[in-house]
Amino acid sequence: MSKRDYYDILGVEKTADEKAIKKAYRKIALQYHPDRNPDDKEAEEKFKEAAEAYEILSDADKRARYDRFGHQGVGGASGGGGGGFGGMNMDDIFDQFGDIFGGAFSGGRARSGGRQRVARGSDLRIKIKLNLKEVATGVKKKIKVNKLVNAEGVTYSTCSTCNGQGRVLRVQQTMLGAMQTQSTCQTCHGTGKIIGKKPSGVDAQGLKRQEELVEINIPAGVEEGMQLKVGGKGNAGPFDGVPGDLLVVIEEEKNDLLQRDGVNLHYEAYVSFSQAALGATLEVPLVEGKAKIKVEAGTQSGKMLRLRGKGLPSIQSYGSGDLFVHINVWTPKKLSSEEKAMLEKLDNSENFKPKPGKKEQGFFNKMKDFFGG
Ligand SMILES: [Zn+2]
Repeated sequence: MSKRDYYDILGVEKTADEKAIKKAYRKIALQYHPDRNPDDKEAEEKFKEAAEAYEILSDADKRARYDRFGHQGVGGASGGGGGGFGGMNMDDIFDQFGDIFGGAFSGGRARSGGRQRVARGSDLRIKIKLNLKEVATGVKKKIKVNKLVNAEGVTYSTCSTCNGQGRVLRVQQTMLGAMQTQSTCQTCHGTGKIIGKKPSGVDAQGLKRQEELVEINIPAGVEEGMQLKVGGKGNAGPFDGVPGDLLVVIEEEKNDLLQRDGVNLHYEAYVSFSQAALGATLEVPLVEGKAKIKVEAGTQSGKMLRLRGKGLPSIQSYGSGDLFVHINVWTPKKLSSEEKAMLEKLDNSENFKPKPGKKEQGFFNKMKDFFGG
């Protein structure tokens, strides 16, 4: 893959000044920021690409070399390893963010002569099982979560490897001369802090495991496999850092009576042959409570009835789905000789001979009746 021109990436002229470059980068970085584009690989690549372009063009020395030699001239300029984009990883980018935007994004603080970052805790994933009623109304759940928390009684002191900067400087020899690069301090993982005193049971990062009650608000209309994010309720960050997120994966309890298909529900109702022929009133289960429906005299097996709005709410709040009642005519498996004689007599009646019209011809026609195809 050939690299794009840094000026093109930021959409600025070759003559653009520092201010224009910063402004252009800010705009792109905010647009493709991972917090705004979760799990979007393309946005992440754009974000990284822009960060790299900014790193080069915002530095007069690197920019001059880039203008003269192109990508070759700055290829070795960034150390720190990782990533295909000139060695910038996400941590580097967020550090850079802190410098430009005043730490609003990463929580990182710009310091004279170095950069420090706040370590972020890992995300936690839990599963929550919901029944149909909870899906229909939304629900507040209090869940015990076993997670890493910041332990009390831990003292921190300044990391001596990096003097609390979180970064170490390295001088690299390249074809263009000696170049100074920065990388994250391995001793303190870039936090600038190491643990002084810690009570027993606390790990090397100042954390301990503990159960915590977390309240989770689940909106109506969620579906099996959906993942909700509860910000900041994951594991605490190492070295007194910021916590990760709690990811809640939805599981649906199977309902024996009502089958779910997106926002719609389906119910299989059974009527006797005589009910289908004479007409009847049936009781149908709803998500909550019951409804009475009328089966007309002369109803065919396979007829569908629709109860509008008795399905599930859409998670995007576009109203609710419907409940479809499928009418099945129950055929007795065994007959007494008396019943048999009666039915044989009825079978001779002209009325009992099947004469399907258009309306009775199959499932797709029935769907058309509902959805006007
Ligand atoms: Zn350090």
